[in-house]
Amino acid sequence: MTASSSPAKSSRARSRHARLLAAQKAKPPRCKAEPGVFKPIVDPLRCEGKGDCAVACRFGVFEIGRMPGEQFAAMPLLVKFKLWAHGRKTAFTFNAHACRACGSCVSACPEHAIKLARSVKPQ
Ligand code: SF4
Repeated sequence: MTASSSPAKSSRARSRHARLLAAQKAKPPRCKAEPGVFKPIVDPLRCEGKGDCAVACRFGVFEIGRMPGEQFAAMPLLVKFKLWAHGRKTAFTFNAHACRACGSCVSACPEHAIKLARSVKPQ
């Protein structure tokens, strides 16, 4: 259930993802932290499941999936409508422990829905 496997991906999303992949190949990753020090936080009120984060992340942190019913039910009405229009797609970070804090997902997200947060305290 990744962004790249979505059959309904629009041509705009495909060209955006192709540009992201080309930029990735042209520029080596600038990892700023060891895995597990930072993690991406996805704002469910902003995320539209466009999958740019999943394409931009070299470490497989993101998966695009359908928002569970109980989480969807707790959303404000306007957000529910937006989610419904996008098939309730949203980004999940099941693999957040692999994050290296490069920031690629933050700059790739067209909805500005991702920020990085420290997940462990510095020693
Ligand atoms: S900051 Fe980099 S490593 Fe971390 S989730 Fe975003 S793209 Fe992946």
